[in-house]
Amino acid sequence: MNKQTTAVVKDLLAAPKKIIVVGHKNPDGDAVGSCLALSLALKEMGHSCRVMMPNDFPDFLKWLPGCEDILVYEKDSEGNDKLIEAAELIFTLDFNALDRVGEMETPLKAAEADFVLIDHHQKPDDYAVAVYSDTSMSSTCEMVYHFLDAIDGLQYLNSEMATQLYTGIMTDTGSFRYPATSATTHRIVAQLIEHGANGSAIHQNIYDTNTPNRLALLGVALKNMKVLPEYRTAYITLSQKELDKHNFKRGDTEGFVNYALSVSGIVFAVIFIENKQERIVKISLRSKGSFSVNDFARKYYNGGGHINAAGGKSDKSLSATVTEFISILPSHKNELIDAL
Ligand code: 5GP
Ligand code: MN
Repeated sequence: MNKQTTAVVKDLLAAPKKIIVVGHKNPDGDAVGSCLALSLALKEMGHSCRVMMPNDFPDFLKWLPGCEDILVYEKDSEGNDKLIEAAELIFTLDFNALDRVGEMETPLKAAEADFVLIDHHQKPDDYAVAVYSDTSMSSTCEMVYHFLDAIDGLQYLNSEMATQLYTGIMTDTGSFRYPATSATTHRIVAQLIEHGANGSAIHQNIYDTNTPNRLALLGVALKNMKVLPEYRTAYITLSQKELDKHNFKRGDTEGFVNYALSVSGIVFAVIFIENKQERIVKISLRSKGSFSVNDFARKYYNGGGHINAAGGKSDKSLSATVTEFISILPSHKNELIDAL
């Protein structure tokens, strides 16, 4: 974090404040971990602080220390509107545009609080008085560590915060294997372990949570996978019917798209998941090398993310979305062939 942003943040935190820390819709390990850790640190510094998520987070994160105190906006939107209205300072973590919080967008836009943005996605919007944005970072959790370092907050690092930050770094780096995992990431992780994060236990808590239904759904996803070698592309579809048949729960499809990306020679992988309730198809995109799924998601799916991991949605039916996808590929053939 640069000196100017550090000075602005220090000034904002100079006296005790009423603070809300917000993560994005469909919060993942990085969003939940970073919000919880920052909130704990801010409380240690004497502020009053709550974490608020637009909607609920997956069961595989429900063991995280402090997660029981997270406010879920959609569970009590009127009460939570009042808290947002009363806040003096709002941190937004792991997203950078206010349309990433669903129904919370309206109260956040109306809020009088100053905003601080901490995030590693591309192209931050301009709504915060302090912006700490760095697309080279492995995770927002890694950024929270640097943020605390800059504002002399690492003295408060305890085993709960270490566990929360480790979780987000681990999940966003695919267990320390994606390219944004740097030597600094590992140095920070070492610090977190020294402060009480138990890497092996955290890994088990997150990844050894399969149910027979989830594994059967993975089987369906893999059967549905189509490989298009001429475009070095593989995609997966899951219909609402298939989800219902396997008692789909939030988070069950996490990581499925990576199987498509793991096919030899593939540089572009997509999963299309029908959501009848929201009348959308949710789309997760992954790539290798120079092919930017951030650009692709922005251009075609009203979404965004990182160069190699992004998301978006379509208002068309599942089959129309896939037909359209296939028709788009030829115009990207050269980029796909040259990606690696
Ligand atoms: P996932 O595919 O795991 O849901 O998300 C991959 C990355 O893309 C994450 O960094 C996530 O924050 C981002 N992302 C997912 N969905 C959307 C979306 O609808 N809009 C934007 N701007 N980013 C998204
Ligand atoms: Mn993240």
